[in-house]
This record gives sequence, C-alpha cells and structure tokens, in this order.
Amino acid sequence: MTVDAFDPREVIEAKKAGRSRPDAIADLVTGLLEGTVDDAQVAAYLMAGILRGFTEDEAVAMTEALLRSGEVVDLGLAGPTVDKHSTGGVGDTTTLVVAPLAAACGLRVAKLSGRGLGHTGGTIDKLESIPGMRVDLTTRELRDQLDRVGLAVAAATSALVPADRVLYALRDRTATVDAPALIAASVMSKKLAGGADTIILDVKTGDGAFLSDIDDAVALAELCVAIGTAHGRRTAALVTDMSQPLGRGVGNALEVAEAITTLAQAPADDRLATVSRALATALVQLARGAEEHEARAEVDDAWTSGAALDRLAAFIDAQGGDPRVIEDPWSVLERAPVVEEWRPGAGTVASVACRALGELAHRLGAGRLRADDPIDHAVGLEVLVGTGDRLGARDVAVRVHARTEEDAAAVLDRLPALIELADVPVTAPELIHARVGL
Ligand code: URA
Ligand code: CA
Repeated sequence: MTVDAFDPREVIEAKKAGRSRPDAIADLVTGLLEGTVDDAQVAAYLMAGILRGFTEDEAVAMTEALLRSGEVVDLGLAGPTVDKHSTGGVGDTTTLVVAPLAAACGLRVAKLSGRGLGHTGGTIDKLESIPGMRVDLTTRELRDQLDRVGLAVAAATSALVPADRVLYALRDRTATVDAPALIAASVMSKKLAGGADTIILDVKTGDGAFLSDIDDAVALAELCVAIGTAHGRRTAALVTDMSQPLGRGVGNALEVAEAITTLAQAPADDRLATVSRALATALVQLARGAEEHEARAEVDDAWTSGAALDRLAAFIDAQGGDPRVIEDPWSVLERAPVVEEWRPGAGTVASVACRALGELAHRLGAGRLRADDPIDHAVGLEVLVGTGDRLGARDVAVRVHARTEEDAAAVLDRLPALIELADVPVTAPELIHARVGL
C-alpha cells in the first residue's frame, strides 16, 4: 500500500459534500473494470452525484474515461459520415426513417446501435424482427457497406466502450441512470468511438424519457453538443417530446412496418414523420453547412421520389434481411396470434402514460428485463390516439398484439388507467422543444 494510492472513499466523500473531482473519475472507471474498486463504491459515488449533481468537467472526464476503455472505429472514409442517436423513447422508430433519408441525400450513415433497455426500445431489436437480418458487422463490412449503400446499422460490439456496458448495467440496477452528465458521457463516448464526423442527437423529454424534466433534457443536449464539438465532431441536438409514444407502433415488428409505411408515403404530418423530417433536415444542415430550407427541400425530395425507401431496401438486402418486407411488410414480419381492440368511448384524450405503455409492451414480450432475455418480435401495442385527439363512441384507441389471450386480457384491463379521456378540449404538446448547436 503506497501513501498516495487511490482511495475511492475520498472521492465518494467529496461527491457527498457536493465537491467536483473530475481528476478522480478515470481511476474510478478503471478500478471498476479491473475489480480494484467494487460495485458498491461506484454505486455510492453515482448516487451521491445524482443527488448533488455533476459538473460539466466531470461529464467530460467521464466521457474520456469511458472512451479510453475500448476501441475507436476508423471509418476510413472521407466525410461526411453521420450518426444519429436517441436518448431512448417509446414508439421511437426515427432511426429507420431518418437514416435512409440522410443516405438518399448523399450522406454516409454509420449507425452503431444498442438493444432496448428499461421501458425503451432499441434499433437492433427492431431490425432483428426482419427475417435474415444480420447486425453483427465487422468494421470492414461496415466500411464496405457505407461505400456501396451509404447506410449501415450495426450492433455495438463489446470492444466498443466496454466500460459503458459495465457502468450502465450498474446504473440500471441502482436507479442512477437519470443524471444529465452520466447520460451525456454514456451516449457521447459511444458516438465518439463510432467514428462518424457528424452527430445528431434526439434528446427526449417527458414521461417516457429517461429525463422527464425539460430543463434537464436541454442541459443534457448542451452537454452532448459541447463534448462532441470539443472532439472535433459536428454535433447538434433536438430536444423532442416523449410525453406520449412517438409513432403508433410500440413493439419491434410493428415499428419496422410503421417506418416502412412512413417512408412509402409522402411526408405526413403525424408525430413520427414530423420528428424524423426535422432530424434528417438537421443532419443535412450540419453535415454540409446547408441552410435549413435547402436541407428540408432535399430531404422532402428524397422522401417523395422514393429514393429513401430504395435506400432502406438496399440496406436491408445488404445485411441479409428479406427485401420483400419493403413491398409488403406483413408478408415477411411475424404477426402476433392474438389481436384485441380497446374502444374507450367518446371523449378527448387528456393524457397518455407513455412510460407505462412502454412497460406494458415490454411485459407482453417486446422488451427485456435483463440484458440476455429473449424478445418476442411480434407482440406490442398500436397506440392509435394522441393527446388532444377527439374520439367517437366506437373509435379504437389501442390495438393489443399478444402471444396469448391471457396476456391480451391483462393489458386490456390496464389500459383505462393509462389513457385518460376528458370532455373538454386538450392541446397537443409541442413536438420539438429546443434546438442546440444548429
Ligand atoms: N442511452 C444511453 O446510451 N446511455 C444512457 O445512459 C441513457 C440512454
Ligand atoms: Ca424544470
């Protein structure tokens, strides 16, 4: 034992007293990975930080420590290469709409993605509902595909930011996920390691997001943009609404089908299309320094001409997925055996319990409680109504897609408590709350 050996208790004491110690974070993270600092100590530190707050310097130090734990992908391409990331939501299928749009606008979209955790869904799980789809690309395959198709989505391997996996699992178990600095470090270490030179973040706010408070979400967006910019990446963020599911589908195959239908139509004004269009526009603006109206026109053209849908088809084909999913999604995707409809009666939708709906879909089998749980790609919810919608007496509000009659019945019992009707007019929430770095 040397006199100046690292003592985690000192760092925990400092955080407990509200002092900033960015210098100690690298030792904590390395110690956690090497087993010289135990889980309990890191958990105590994290909880002290959740209660006291972390400084921007600590967020930066945490990002560096996580980033240094693994490899950084060299895309080996002259830019622009772009990546897009959502902080996690319910019915949040934007990647499958935004990535083909951006690729059809000539950007190379290299998206490293995760699986769903907690009440949120993950792009990799959604893609795996397409029969044959491979998501375990090597760096070489990723690069080749970016050259040929302009779009690749791969599961982040364990070589990429291994410390985030360990830390995230610990945060998940100890209810210490929801600090802007911790989320920023987790997200940005992975985006920086992914190698893209342009990064757009969709920071969610509202009941279905990890950070429900809008000020916290804006702080998270600002931190992420500051960290990305300091690393020489063009980085921007939109803060978007997650007070209700974004799309109608909440569940893996349901969300894939919805993304395809969304791209197959002219840009609609529903929530999923609106947020996807804003994100794709922001990517084109950011990657090329284009004016917003030019970028929007380019995105709309890629959408209306069918070029984006063609990109999605080429991408699915390149990764081994059954390309017939584009023409007729349900000829390829698995449908749940039991489908039940919920009709709540006449009224105006006053509120939607977004997180609870996400959790219900997970309990049907669409998500996992533990990282190695299997997923049922077919099940989930179609939430056909949004806040402010007026319903007639016979309108269907939710369609439940379940594996068994019992599962469907249990969900139907819960729904009346989760979607509240009123008999007064209700205004729909804003979809885009803030833009950072644009
Ligand atoms: N998504 C991440 O990747 N990390 C977090 O901490 C939260 C959401
Ligand atoms: Ca507030």
